[in-house]
Amino acid sequence: MKLHDVSWPTQSELERGLVAWLDTLPGASWLTLPGRDQSRHRVVVTLLHGNEPSGTKALWHFFHQPFECAVTTHFCLANVNAALFDTPFSTRHLENKPDMNRCFGRNGDDDSYDVAAEIMARIRALKPEAVVDIHNTSGSGPSFAVTIVDDEKHRHVSSLFTERMLCSSVRLGALMEQTSEETPILTIECGGAQDVAADEVAKNGLHHFLHTDDIFQNHTGFWPLDLLYHPVRVQLKPELELCYHDRKVDEADLTLPPDIDRHNFGWMAADSMIGWLGAKGLDAMTTNDGEGGHPIDALFYEQDGELRLKQASKLFMITTRRDIALSDCLFYMVAD
Ligand SMILES: [Zn+2]
Repeated sequence: MKLHDVSWPTQSELERGLVAWLDTLPGASWLTLPGRDQSRHRVVVTLLHGNEPSGTKALWHFFHQPFECAVTTHFCLANVNAALFDTPFSTRHLENKPDMNRCFGRNGDDDSYDVAAEIMARIRALKPEAVVDIHNTSGSGPSFAVTIVDDEKHRHVSSLFTERMLCSSVRLGALMEQTSEETPILTIECGGAQDVAADEVAKNGLHHFLHTDDIFQNHTGFWPLDLLYHPVRVQLKPELELCYHDRKVDEADLTLPPDIDRHNFGWMAADSMIGWLGAKGLDAMTTNDGEGGHPIDALFYEQDGELRLKQASKLFMITTRRDIALSDCLFYMVAD
């Protein structure tokens, strides 16, 4: 067993604070709260990435101001060990461990794969009406949902949290890729881990998710959805040099401005300058849209060492953390 059943924090634990409570957990944890209708279930997963605290903070807020959930609700705090490593909420995954949200539906030696398999086994056994997996982006930006399916159910659950839904064909081993007709599973990206607004998105969305009796009904007052299809994941090729600087760094294969994340979800005009390329030019970068399309030179061109957009595009999930940009990706984009 890699996933531990834990109970509601005691009054003294609530007073000692969130990090102290996480410290009492035996690792990946599962907490069940019976609801008004105990024949139905919903699942909230969070902290698959240890540096993404908004979901956990929202849960902590709920512990302090609890109310009766509409249906029996299960909470999973996944990568507690990474969250507690070093400065709390600074580590995505431990260095010798895989990214836990790349372990679903995949096999591997590390026990992170066992945690992922146990989470999925519980979800399959419970047949919950929906699963939300709450994350933060590593750069600053607005909230959005990510799904691999665009249907009514996924749209309804998304709109409890946010006004944007990305429908992706990229497959990485994320929890939301395990979605099904019976149990929609979505990623909710609340916005940057440092953004105060992200904590509010998680808190309000969680409230709606726990409180709403029928989450698949048209709820008035919730967000109309802006839908984005087929995002392209953009990466620097392995072993290459990435810098964040406000001018070109000579030895870097790619230099990006340190405030590039201010473009998150804003439309950028064709020919907009994104950064500076090195000696390898565009060949330093690679793309993945999950369907074998959108090669790098369909999206960008190089002019006098500058990386420019071929068409009007929207960039998102832009990170300015070099380690995450290199291990995960630089950003995602959709072109007009
Ligand atoms: Zn994440």
